[in-house]
This record gives sequence, structure tokens and C-alpha cells, in this order.
Amino acid sequence: MIFNNPEYITIVVLSAIAVALILYLIFRSPFDYPYFVHQFDISGKRNPCIEDWIDEFIIDGNFYLIQLHNEKIKRWKNDCERKIDKSILKNYRNDQFQKCLDDKNAFCFMFVRMQTRYHQHNYVKTPYKVSQVVSEYSYDYTYLLSRNNLLKSIDYEMPLRKYYSKNQRKLMTKELREKVILRDNYTCRICGKYMPDGVGLQIDHIVPISKGGKTVLSNLQVTCSKCNGHKKDKLEY
Ligand SMILES: [Zn+2]
Repeated sequence: MIFNNPEYITIVVLSAIAVALILYLIFRSPFDYPYFVHQFDISGKRNPCIEDWIDEFIIDGNFYLIQLHNEKIKRWKNDCERKIDKSILKNYRNDQFQKCLDDKNAFCFMFVRMQTRYHQHNYVKTPYKVSQVVSEYSYDYTYLLSRNNLLKSIDYEMPLRKYYSKNQRKLMTKELREKVILRDNYTCRICGKYMPDGVGLQIDHIVPISKGGKTVLSNLQVTCSKCNGHKKDKLEY
């Protein structure tokens, strides 16, 4: 019997594997979306805010990297379309191409922390660093472009969040201060201390400016210096 011939079985198995491999190579997607990936080393930083890091990245003159990459994506798309045109599996390839497009998440930024680990060999410890991804954020080109334009409008002076909070502080006028004091009747809204002479009386942002709080009547309250001090400890550290 031919099926008992071990050489024959080997040939059948090997050809089956070869055919499967060829089919896999033909039908798998040849498209690989070119993501922009940038890592920020946040070792030793507390509560890093991604917007600030991206702003600093742009302020440091790196927006051209983002522009270059955006051009690269455009060229890549053109190349793909040309290949699809030439392909005999045109519709199939086009589906694969469309599925692989991911412009919304084209620009990926990662927070990484460096960790020190050790090799141990014959009682000798050698330190080495490994980076660990803490979080990932993806943006499209439009977002980064508008970020760049906003930063440009303030001469790349500082991150936007910082700029806006600085302006919020400027909005605290003498008139607004008096309105808050009158509304709260010279009384600390946290402990109830009455300060009719105004000594030790402070105006506090209920939602802190650093967290997006605005300098408006509804977000302001009277506190005594003691309560204000406690509040700062809790919110900022
Ligand atoms: Zn108080």
C-alpha cells in the first residue's frame, strides 16, 4: 500500500505545510500603519499631565518631527494605494488597507519610568535600567497641530495649562474679592470662623486653578488662613 510508505507520507505532509505557508503569505495583510511613538521619561515625577509634556515637547522645537511624520504617513498611504492598484486581489487588499488605517491614534505618547534592576553573578551585583510603560496616549495630527498653533500664539512661552492658570490668577480683581467676602459674610466656609476685620481672611478657589478651576464667583469661597493651608496640603500633595 502506498499509504504505508513513510516517504510518501513525509512528502504529503511537507507539501501541505508549504501550501499553507504560501497561502498565509499571500492572504495576510501586507499593511502596517506607521505610528509615531515617543516616550517621556517621568521617573521621579509626581502626577505628570500628558498635555503639559506634549506642550513642552513642542516648545522644545520638536513639532517638525510631528510634521515630518505626518508627511511620512501621507507618502505611505500613496504607496499603499499604488500597490493596491497593481494587485490582482484589489478589493481584498483594499479592505485590508482600510482596516489598518488609524489616523485617530497616529501619534502615540508614552509615559515610562526607568527602573533599576540587578544582574547577580558571583556575588557581584551589576545594576541595569529597564523602562516600564506607565500609560499611553494617542492623538491625531489635527489635535497636535491646533496645540502647536495655540502655543505659537503665546510665543511658545509656557505650557497652555500653566498659561491659562496664570491668566485665571490675573482675573482675581479687588471687586470680585469684595463680592465673595460680602456673599460669604466674612465667614470661613470650611470652619465657620467669623472674621469681621478681614484679618486672616482668604479667597480660595473651590476647584483649584491647577485642576481647571475658574476665577468666577461660583468657584470662590472665603476661608481662614488655617483652613486654606490644610486644603492646599490635601489637593496639591
Ligand atoms: Zn476656617
